[in-house]
Amino acid sequence: MATYDFDLFTFGAGSGGVRASRMAASFGAKTAVAEERYLGGTCVNVGCIPKKLLVYASEFGEGFSDAAGFGWTLGHRQLDWKALIANKDREIHRLNGVYRRLLTEAGATIMEGRATLVDAHTVSINGSRYTSKYILIATGSWPVVPDVPGSNHAITSNEAFFLEKRPERVILVGGGYIAVEFAGIFHGMGSHVTLVHRGEKLLRGFDEDLRDTLGSEMRKRGIDLRLNCTVGGIEKTSNGVGVHLDSGEMVRADLIMYATGRAPHTQGLGLEKTGVVVDGEGAIVVDPYSQSSVPNIYAIGDCTNRIMLTPVAIAEGRAVAETLFNNRPMSVDYTGVPSAVFSQPNLATVGLTESEARERFGDVAVYKSTFRPLKHTLSGRDEMTFMKLVVDQSTDRVVGCHMIGADAGEIIQGLAIALKSNATKALFDATIGIHPTAAEEFVTMRAPA
Ligand code: NDP
Repeated sequence: MATYDFDLFTFGAGSGGVRASRMAASFGAKTAVAEERYLGGTCVNVGCIPKKLLVYASEFGEGFSDAAGFGWTLGHRQLDWKALIANKDREIHRLNGVYRRLLTEAGATIMEGRATLVDAHTVSINGSRYTSKYILIATGSWPVVPDVPGSNHAITSNEAFFLEKRPERVILVGGGYIAVEFAGIFHGMGSHVTLVHRGEKLLRGFDEDLRDTLGSEMRKRGIDLRLNCTVGGIEKTSNGVGVHLDSGEMVRADLIMYATGRAPHTQGLGLEKTGVVVDGEGAIVVDPYSQSSVPNIYAIGDCTNRIMLTPVAIAEGRAVAETLFNNRPMSVDYTGVPSAVFSQPNLATVGLTESEARERFGDVAVYKSTFRPLKHTLSGRDEMTFMKLVVDQSTDRVVGCHMIGADAGEIIQGLAIALKSNATKALFDATIGIHPTAAEEFVTMRAPA
């Protein structure tokens, strides 16, 4: 029988790779993890975590204004951008250390450098070669910038977390998660934000009511939304960029940031030497157990382009470790995966949109509620909360919950459990609300829209 240096060699110490490697090591597998950039991957370093910290920072702007209605008088307010970024960096640095400890304490070996495949069982890194029984590719994704003249003057989310100073005027391109989240971040910090999106609404794939409400809430706040609009070219100016729109207009800004999707990060790994099949977008093709076309090579997370969300990558990592090293074959259930967009206001969703439900079940009942949150009766802020339930009429099962408003992510997470448990509308109705909260509205919607 062949002997190998390792039982598992993981490419990438992001959310998925770390979970799989830690668990494999804890099951007794001899495990190595290669990381060429930063421990914790996109989520910890240039994604979810620093993004949410910047969202918190930016929300203070409106919070200070809200305070007046509650009797507070505030003095001069000023944002120290450098202090914010330094504090954020310190926290990320701490998390890098936590990830290092989690891996080493589980018994995994960390190798810092770029790993490449020599063949299906051999890895080359930092001038050495190692063999492994199983290989796990967990290399994530990378921002895509379309090829427009001058696109080299644009930044992506990778750079946005390390800006030297706050830009006064920002142009964001894209209408997905990252574009709308950063629109809120920069706007909340006091920048003038123009968001250019090729579609007629933001957030394709989300429920239409959420898409409409987000667009109108962002406009109300003063974000300049340019929908059905594309960028023809970007030129460098003495103090920033001039961005040519297809309308013929040129918009000037200090900074242009593209948030036009992320592509699987699979180039240059040597996959072609192993025969691993990748699709037209570079994603590694895998079966429900995350096994690639080469039996000992597995892949999880963004590099497989299934659902690009951290908790999904973590679930896939766990499933691979259980399957290979704990004698417990496990696949991930991709139904009812909740998600939140940390736009301002937040929005979150679980289950089917109204149109998906109509397509699948035909007869659906829809319950909607739009209201002014209690807090804003005194703050005076002109912001509405919107909630929606989609119910399959034939079974009374709630098949979709959607919300836009404060803490939407926190609220929908709980409802995701209800949907996983196949809760009916009658069960929602039988649940007593917590008063006064926004969330209670989800159990008090009685009349279909
Ligand atoms: P998204 O796929 O969410 O959005 C990409 C946006 O760019 C879409 O609006 C798309 O338009 C537009 N677009 C794509 N190509 C072009 C082009 N050539 N020219 C102009 N516009 C274009 O990607 P993001 O970059 O925002 O985020 C990547 C992924 O990361 C997300 O899909 C999500 O899975 C994950 N993520 C999750 C977060 C969370 O959970 N809160 C936060 C941030 C990221 P169209 O709709 O017309 O295709």
